[in-house]
Amino acid sequence: MKRVVATIAATLMLGSSACTPRPHPGVEPVAPRLVVLIIVDQMRADRLAAFADRYESGLARLRDEGTVFENAHHAHAMTWTAAGIATLTSGVHPSRSGIIGNHWWDRGQRARVDAVTDPGTRRLDRPDLPGASPSHLRVTALGDWLKRMNPSSQVWSVAIKDRAAVLAGGRHPDGAFWYDFERGRFVTSSYYMDEEPAWALAFDSARSVEAFRGGWHLLRDENGYTCSDAAAGEDEPSTFPHLFSNGDAYYREIFNSPFGDRFTFDFATALIDGQRLGTDDASDLLIVGASSGDEVGHSYGPVSREVEDYYLRLDLMLGEFFDHLDTAVGRGGWLVALSSDHGVLPLPEQTRLAGTPAERHSWGSLHDPAQSALAAALNDERVDPGLVRLAYDNGWVLDADPDVAPERLTALRSRMAASLRDDPRIEDVFTWDELVSDTPLGRPYEAEFRRSFDAERSADLMLRFREFDLAFAGASGTNHGSAYAYDTHVPMVFLGAGIPAQRIESPIRTVDLAPTLASYLGIEPPAALDGKIIRYPQPTGRSQHQSFGNQRNRTGTNPACPK
Ligand SMILES: [Zn+2]
Repeated sequence: MKRVVATIAATLMLGSSACTPRPHPGVEPVAPRLVVLIIVDQMRADRLAAFADRYESGLARLRDEGTVFENAHHAHAMTWTAAGIATLTSGVHPSRSGIIGNHWWDRGQRARVDAVTDPGTRRLDRPDLPGASPSHLRVTALGDWLKRMNPSSQVWSVAIKDRAAVLAGGRHPDGAFWYDFERGRFVTSSYYMDEEPAWALAFDSARSVEAFRGGWHLLRDENGYTCSDAAAGEDEPSTFPHLFSNGDAYYREIFNSPFGDRFTFDFATALIDGQRLGTDDASDLLIVGASSGDEVGHSYGPVSREVEDYYLRLDLMLGEFFDHLDTAVGRGGWLVALSSDHGVLPLPEQTRLAGTPAERHSWGSLHDPAQSALAAALNDERVDPGLVRLAYDNGWVLDADPDVAPERLTALRSRMAASLRDDPRIEDVFTWDELVSDTPLGRPYEAEFRRSFDAERSADLMLRFREFDLAFAGASGTNHGSAYAYDTHVPMVFLGAGIPAQRIESPIRTVDLAPTLASYLGIEPPAALDGKIIRYPQPTGRSQHQSFGNQRNRTGTNPACPK
């Protein structure tokens, strides 16, 4: 029997407004047969507007026909992929999901631990290699809530990055697939299944991954771009065409091009068909991570011709994908949500050109003073220097011999923090002791750092660098990971049957996504999530994409390139 979901009508609907279609009176909305969550890695909120004059397909459809939340932010300080994905799909901050970063320092093992690599599992295609699983995820996610309500609902996830696919799927999906950079195929682990499905084997046999060997050329004529192709600060080679190696290195190289995500959407399409998603009354969930957007952005920065070309191609990829949903599931039967795990810092060179101070700080320039601060603290506390080693993982880590007493570690952290706060490049340092205590500190970004804090996994000294600076930088490229708006401000768009076309300026948080999708699916999210179901946002009239002026929304540089 088709489930009727009264909550949908109450969710995301505005009051009476000329531009707000409402469902016909008396017609109860029905839970979509397929919900697809698309997480575009490193997609800043301003990407929807940046190249908007040339969007004509999927991104245009999202922008013009969807409900667009223009002020969606991650609310945690350490904006890394694993943390962002877990936040979007679990509805809780990293402090509760436990996924504080892509990796963290394990004090017991005295070693770095990856967020998803699981030596207790095997890769199905390569049993000699460890697999991946959500064993570090401390909570359930949207897919788990769906399957608990209806075990015949299917939940699948796919992304180039293993951490994106695994954490998106939650604890017990039907399957999660990620990309093998050595062989150019999607793979999974023994955590999920015993054998790869026949459709996945057939997809690999077709070797459509070989289709991009001709290299990455501009999609359009040169005049169809507004961004420069060789801006200062881009990785070399910085100009089109970007050609690939002849051998197996090609499989890794296409990750740094739109073709990694082209291949991902092709696999997702095969998955929808192979598993017959959205074809019965049990709602299904598919999460697709577009990971290549991140790699391209790291190399060339968000205001580059490469990123411009990536988004023009993503527009087409999404359009084809939505067309396939119309065919496979039927118009009105599917719902898409699009968001991102984090934004990105513009290249410091470009920020300076725009008149804002911005610098690169190398590993050595940050490590050496920290090492000196540790040496001085050890001396002052009369701790044997051989007992404490400095490491970095989401902050400075004091890798201490078990013989070092906890109160000595507290004193070392306190002394080091005082020293590091004198560095003009460092705005603030939160110590492990400050964040493990509930006592308010009354300092800027304290709440964001608390939401990224896990007592077992967090570092000893967590740093807030100067806004617009790039810490641990190479000579080119850029990164994310800060609490600033350029890293936290992401798109949040809902598209599908019953969703009105509207733009909402009211601020929302990325923890709100999972409970809101749960509401669409007619399932009750767990109590006491950090996020809440987005209901009845306040109408704001005819909103336009704003140029954000206040401190909270400083995203840096012109999101588009000047004509
Ligand atoms: Zn990244």
